[in-house]
Amino acid sequence: AIVIRNVHKVFGDQHVLRGINLEVMPGTVTAVLGPSGSGKSTLLRLINQLETRTAGEIYVDGELTGYRKIDTGKGPVLETLDDKAIARQRSKIGMVFQRFNLFPHMTALENVMEAPVHVGRVPKSDARKEAQAQLERVGLEDRMDYYPAQLSGGQQQRVAIARALAMHPDIMLFDEPTSALDPELVGEVLGVMRQVAQQGMTMVVVTHEMGFAREVAEQIVFMDQGVVVEQGGPGIIDHPHTERFAGFLHTVL
Ligand code: ATP
Ligand code: MG
Repeated sequence: AIVIRNVHKVFGDQHVLRGINLEVMPGTVTAVLGPSGSGKSTLLRLINQLETRTAGEIYVDGELTGYRKIDTGKGPVLETLDDKAIARQRSKIGMVFQRFNLFPHMTALENVMEAPVHVGRVPKSDARKEAQAQLERVGLEDRMDYYPAQLSGGQQQRVAIARALAMHPDIMLFDEPTSALDPELVGEVLGVMRQVAQQGMTMVVVTHEMGFAREVAEQIVFMDQGVVVEQGGPGIIDHPHTERFAGFLHTVL
């Protein structure tokens, strides 16, 4: 599970997240919607500790991220976790970005093996088997030895998903995973994400794909200007409660 309590993020003089509260239950999919600049990517990056929050608390699997609470007798004090502890927390979370971020000089298989071998210290032969299994899972058993430049955008994004899955994360974060794709390639990536969701993965997906959000997500979160304006079940896409969400849906549907 992910629990986000009153989280703020300030960049310079910009107050980008202004008190976010959110819970993501294990095995569920949360779709995060909202206009450009509303803070969606920043929220994902805070969950995965690619940024540090300005205030508030984020728990992943019941564990406070980034800090340790020390009771001094005069109330709790926060101490920043060391790099190793943060890396251990981050290893529970897989992330897929809009741009595929594959290593161009490595094949699909080598891309998927890279982190298990170099970060997870998995023996190469085991990592190869695992990478093959993950590439099969995303339907790329016949493309394992292709380089990124020899793959379509949709195939590259599926490699990126397999690469994240190979680290056996508890949670997968997706930041507009289909926004950079040609329209005809969107479906194959959403299909893989749907399958991963059906296999019980806890997922947070920033997306403009309303069909996917409506059909796959248990929870919809609409953000605007750094706050959660509306949240609820997928029904709110067809029956928004606020003018702002209705207006946003009007621009994307
Ligand atoms: P989009 O839909 O365009 O991806 P978003 O909802 O993901 O938008 P964010 O990328 O979270 O929005 O950005 C929210 C605000 O925070 C923006 O105004 C952005 O300029 C600002 N911001 C994000 N990252 C940084 C940074 N590293 N330094 C300064 N400002 C930042
Ligand atoms: Mg973004």
